[in-house]
Amino acid sequence: MIAIQGAQIIDGTGRDPIRGAAVRIDGDRIVGIGPVERDDQVIDMAGCTILPGLIDAHVHFGLTSPIGPMLAKELSIAERAANMFAVCEDTLRQGFTTVRDTGGIDWGLVRTVESGRIRGPRILCCGAILAQTGGHAHYTSPNECVHEWKSRELPGLATLSVICDSPDQVRAAARDNFRRGATFLKMNITGGIISLSDSMDDTQFTVPEIEAAVLEAQARKTYVTVHAHNNQGIRNGIAAGATCVEHGTDIDEELAEEMAALGVHLVPTLAVMHIHARDFDDMSLHGDIRERFSGVEAKMARAIKVATDAGVLVGSGTDYVGPKQDNRGLEIALRAEIVGAMQAIMAATSVNAEIIGVRDRVGTLEAGKLADVVAVDFDPLAEPHLFGDSGRTVLVVKDGEVVRNDRG
Ligand SMILES: [Zn+2]
Repeated sequence: MIAIQGAQIIDGTGRDPIRGAAVRIDGDRIVGIGPVERDDQVIDMAGCTILPGLIDAHVHFGLTSPIGPMLAKELSIAERAANMFAVCEDTLRQGFTTVRDTGGIDWGLVRTVESGRIRGPRILCCGAILAQTGGHAHYTSPNECVHEWKSRELPGLATLSVICDSPDQVRAAARDNFRRGATFLKMNITGGIISLSDSMDDTQFTVPEIEAAVLEAQARKTYVTVHAHNNQGIRNGIAAGATCVEHGTDIDEELAEEMAALGVHLVPTLAVMHIHARDFDDMSLHGDIRERFSGVEAKMARAIKVATDAGVLVGSGTDYVGPKQDNRGLEIALRAEIVGAMQAIMAATSVNAEIIGVRDRVGTLEAGKLADVVAVDFDPLAEPHLFGDSGRTVLVVKDGEVVRNDRG
């Protein structure tokens, strides 16, 4: 068996760190946390903290090229695929062993990683985002005809969004996403930050349209997560039966109580707000949306606090788009400033696992779980801001296989 030992183990359940023990692995499974035994093959991470493989519940692996040139079709399919594979592999090296892709890929990338031809995290995929005409993720110039949007579709690789404008069209789009490998659905039901033709205060889709997606998801024993910044949008989503909210920027006490009572989860995305506000000029985004980033991170931080206090299960996602996706741990660092280090770590491990439906397999270092294990060369409880530096990840094990060992 393999025994990974370091200064301490944070197992993701929220209990205090364990010292003087190792995470013991047999094949692709965790056997338990305990003393090193005589025949164990020891991976010595002296001075490091051992954590469960991290989970990013909001990624866009299909949006890993510069957005402007990509949407203008200036990039070849080969270049886009190369950028996707590179970010996929780098995400794993940062310590993220599971991700939930919230729009843009289909079965092609999932299968390529599963087959081992490229390295990457375990990927859960929703296929194309369900978007309304002119809504968030229908990211075009008003000079373009609506039917041209579909021409950007690259089946087997990437499809940002599918435009649908009635319950029947939503139903058809949802069914096609499932046909192409989706295991849940994502629907944009308010305006967004990088939209050109809407406002963050807008609601998008009607309740019956959202409900059409929810019914399709329920028929597949899965769920709909909704992109939503404003509270009226979130209320529409909840009324229709959606059980997960992405961003949730404006959530207040009253709405947080409603979400908690109904078991609706939240996946906030601080890192993207932080990075875009700081590095806007490098993002090849339209200049008109620069203003939209201001103040969003602070509002989202408040929403996280309110939702956490109300008892909502609050996960963690980066929402990075574009080529620079090399510090996903920043989400944990920013979150720690709001709720403390241990809760921030849990959000990116056990809580995310629960929200995305894989808690039985990953998210904690417990016997029987898949052997996804990470080591960082700092004390995350004392210095959580160091999660923002992916160079501090020194060991990554996925399914019992060592994919990074900077000390080996
Ligand atoms: Zn997103």
